[in-house]
Amino acid sequence: MEVKADSKLKILIVLYGLPTDREADGTEGVDEDMIVTQSQTNFICPITQLEMKKPVKNKVCGHTYEEEAIVRMIESKHKRRKKACCPKIGCSHTDVRMSDLIQDEALRRAIESHNKKKHRQSD
Ligand SMILES: [Zn+2]
Repeated sequence: MEVKADSKLKILIVLYGLPTDREADGTEGVDEDMIVTQSQTNFICPITQLEMKKPVKNKVCGHTYEEEAIVRMIESKHKRRKKACCPKIGCSHTDVRMSDLIQDEALRRAIESHNKKKHRQSD
């Protein structure tokens, strides 16, 4: 499926939590389902395969993980005197450190607002 430039912009807004004034007039004609599907993939932790609740970003390679899962992974590797590889498929970063992880507030907010929306719709 081709993503239009306008949809890409909307995805960025969803991801980074910028204020969206487009919903107010509601006449954009953007395929919302597609956006939800696309953005959801970024909400999934590569370790747990579940939607992240407290995403942290690796500032070295730029990947995000569930905080609890990546911390647990690093700890267990370090206990065995091994380096923790980035669990994201295709990533070549082989030494993930606790100090490289930063809270991804924007993503956390995006997930939260996405879930709120989901809840509203099923109500
Ligand atoms: Zn990575």
